[in-house]
Amino acid sequence: MDFFQYKNGVYHAEDVPLPAPAAAIGTPFYCYSAATLERHYKVFSGHFSDMDAMVCYAVKANGNLAILKTLARLGSGADVVSEGEIRLALAAGVDPQRIVFSGVGKTAAEMAFALEKNIFQFNIESEPELRFLSDIAKAKNTKARIAVRVNPDVEAGTHAKISTGHKESKFGVAMPEAMPLYRLAATLPGIEIQGASVHIGSQLTSLGPFAQAFARLRAFAGELRAESFAVKTLDLGGGLGIPYGQEDPPLPAAYADIVKREMKGVGCKIIFEPGRVLVGNAGILVSRVIYVKKSGERIFIVVDAAMNDLLRPSLYGAYHDIVPIAAPPGDAPTELADVAGPICESGDVFAERRLMKIPEAGDLLAFRSAGAYGASMASTYNARPLVAEVMVKGGQYAVVRSRETYEALLKRDTLPSWLL
Ligand SMILES: *Cc1c(COP(=O)(O)O)cnc(C)c1O
Repeated sequence: MDFFQYKNGVYHAEDVPLPAPAAAIGTPFYCYSAATLERHYKVFSGHFSDMDAMVCYAVKANGNLAILKTLARLGSGADVVSEGEIRLALAAGVDPQRIVFSGVGKTAAEMAFALEKNIFQFNIESEPELRFLSDIAKAKNTKARIAVRVNPDVEAGTHAKISTGHKESKFGVAMPEAMPLYRLAATLPGIEIQGASVHIGSQLTSLGPFAQAFARLRAFAGELRAESFAVKTLDLGGGLGIPYGQEDPPLPAAYADIVKREMKGVGCKIIFEPGRVLVGNAGILVSRVIYVKKSGERIFIVVDAAMNDLLRPSLYGAYHDIVPIAAPPGDAPTELADVAGPICESGDVFAERRLMKIPEAGDLLAFRSAGAYGASMASTYNARPLVAEVMVKGGQYAVVRSRETYEALLKRDTLPSWLL
């Protein structure tokens, strides 16, 4: 459920008619609904309020400070994958004891920073990483609390680019190799074993792979305890999908039932790392039609947003609903059209042969479900400045990230002496 809807024929974010920010700050821009975000967090975390649970929002889905602070105020922790994300989480007021650090390529500097901030847990993805972390912690006279990210070898049934839990994935440690790693961890001076973790992929739309992965993690936790290793935390990762179009992902309630079934009586803290399910449908990307181009049989709707602003369609072939901000008359005919951005790549297409009412140049369109992996994946390809982001709360809105200026864009380049 979200709070983007038509009122009197005009698309609104909560009580804000979207033409208002469009006129004030120009297009394209991301627009987030605070009420939607809060609702999603409360629904998700509410299902686990009767457990020793910790929800650590996956910052990489959307690291905007206003989003992070909205979630932090509700008690959310953070799942981070870089020093930058640790800094963002701390700046938003996330308690370091609610931060878990994931990722296959943590650098020495990042580990040192995380140790200085005394974060809750490092999720370890390889033996060299474990040894490296121990050395850094030892040099600082401390211990890093770790969980090994085990690879449960399940097919997530999602897009290959966001599937991470099969045995050939670059992520995690294969189950048979995990126990020897714990034995090693127990001998390392800078390491304190705290638990185990899994994360099998993103945008999962069925519960089966979760159930399998959680069952395997649970069994593995039993093996760890049998060898007297501490299991104080089990981290179940993120990955719950959202409806972008026709898909029908499980509701958080059904996901929670699976968690409770598989983790019943486990006697430790359960960590969740949801990203998309919290922010995905709490954001849209608003764009203006530049041209409507007819080419042979095809109709191209060329908009001012592009793949650099919202990469998912070209990266994953992802579907985003596209809705007009001003509702066209009910009897306006629908036609098949392509919606494309201005970038010089044939992949810069948001929708192919989509049945829609054909807008006119100057009309505003919204790409729905753009709150996750939208702004956070944006680049300046084609020298396009990063777009503005606004957050709506009730009838008010605020710019929560200003549009990058051309000055700022150009200023980062410097010339070598021989070109001066
Ligand atoms: C990306 C990621 C998440 C969040 O995934 P969602 O599908 O957005 O819920 C959680 N944990 C890890 C380790 C990740 O890499």
